Amino acid sequence: MFRTILSGAIHGIECKSVSVEADVSNGLPSFLMVGFLSSEVKEASERVRNALRNSGIQLPAKRFTINLSPADMRKSGTAFDLPIAAVLLAALEEIPEESLKDVFMAGELSLNGRVNGVCGILAMAVYARERGMKYLVVPKENAKEAAIVSGIQVIGVEHLTQMIEFMKDKTSMVSEHINIEEIFQNSQKGLLDFGDICGQERAKRAVEIAAAGRHNILLIGAPGTGKSMLAKRIPGILSPLTLEESIAITKVHSIAGVLDKDNPLLTDRPFQQPHHTISPFALAGGGRNPKPGVISLAHRGVLFLDELPEFHRESLEILRQPLEDKEIHISRVNGNYTFPAEIMLVAAMNPCKCGYYPDRNRCKCTPAEINHYQSRISKPLLDRIDLYVEVEEVTYEKLSAPRMKQGLQSEKMRKNIIRAGQVQAQRYEKKPYCFNSELDEMGLLEFCALEEKEKKLMEKIFHKLKLSARGYHRMLKVARTIADLEGEERIREHHLKEAVSYRKNTMME
Ligand SMILES: [Zn+2]
Repeated sequence: MFRTILSGAIHGIECKSVSVEADVSNGLPSFLMVGFLSSEVKEASERVRNALRNSGIQLPAKRFTINLSPADMRKSGTAFDLPIAAVLLAALEEIPEESLKDVFMAGELSLNGRVNGVCGILAMAVYARERGMKYLVVPKENAKEAAIVSGIQVIGVEHLTQMIEFMKDKTSMVSEHINIEEIFQNSQKGLLDFGDICGQERAKRAVEIAAAGRHNILLIGAPGTGKSMLAKRIPGILSPLTLEESIAITKVHSIAGVLDKDNPLLTDRPFQQPHHTISPFALAGGGRNPKPGVISLAHRGVLFLDELPEFHRESLEILRQPLEDKEIHISRVNGNYTFPAEIMLVAAMNPCKCGYYPDRNRCKCTPAEINHYQSRISKPLLDRIDLYVEVEEVTYEKLSAPRMKQGLQSEKMRKNIIRAGQVQAQRYEKKPYCFNSELDEMGLLEFCALEEKEKKLMEKIFHKLKLSARGYHRMLKVARTIADLEGEERIREHHLKEAVSYRKNTMME
């Protein structure tokens, strides 16, 4: 007797089709699992047999063969346990054959029959709907996540017996629902405000420009000047997520296995702050069946690297490619994997080892030490940072000022940033990029053309500061964003002058 049901395997961030097939025949009793399986999939036979027995179903002494197709794709993980149990039961005519037809199933089984959650359910739900499936049977703890996808009935099961009951009678369980509108209304509530930061107007302004053109930014300042306070507030000034973006981000977090089961839909832009001891592997993602790393968890949000020079050189090197391509490529014997990585990089560092340069009363570092400290960051990475801003120490007067929202506040900044974003979206409508930071050489010529007066100024700056071609382009892009924030079509002198002020400090050239 042969039976089959649809399930799926996560490959990168997509779900690929896997048919779970069972054949039961008379012959020497055996339980064979085939189909290019990793060890944890092979062990499903033990989990399924025990779970069935502990649910009161004894498998007869027959010859069982389980095949996971297609055979040329390696399958891993424990999500096939539940569909394997379902096809076995169908092959034994414990559940009706036609009940398998319109169901996509995934879930891990405990020996006692409990159904445990698995990673990547959202991607599976998207796939199941595309395939026109009517029902999605998943672990109860993943049901809310699956219900993000509309147009398919999500059945969350806690125990094997519930799955059996449902397959025998599809009216026996109600499907899971979540209210996406309500979840979105509650988003952005816990966000931090720039108004909480006293002073630092120059740093706030630099952050506003960086966020508006999605430029990468480096904050330089002594310990305790509030660099990380500034960074943490950036997700709150970026444009709110659309549902589509929200699903794309949630999918990545789901596959990485870091979703909150009760509030699975991510509605705020991600903020990831890995410790400087992080390995290149944890940053970029990896493993035999690669899972997304921290860079991808920051997709469509902010990746904050505090104490940049303290990171391993290899970790910083690994950032170069995703910053350029907006995605991460990992190749393995069994295939190539791609993870998304549209990130805004915000980095922070002390100006020297002790942290107080250029305050010569406090900094005892020698020029050679300062140089060594700053040169720990590779030049190619620095080349991908558009704005440099020194974060000053807060003066006593500012600290003792009445405690109220001061200077630039998040709401105002967000409005400016969204408006500048719309200007860019319109301008780059027919281009493969959407933000000023992504402009290529052709784009620079087309959209950052200068008039005579501005050309002369740039020429002067170019010679005076001995700019490289890259440095020159970087400055033009930043000036473009400053002009966009002002609603100016042309880049003018004062835009260029402001852009120059955010260039690399001379020591770091
Ligand atoms: Zn020092």
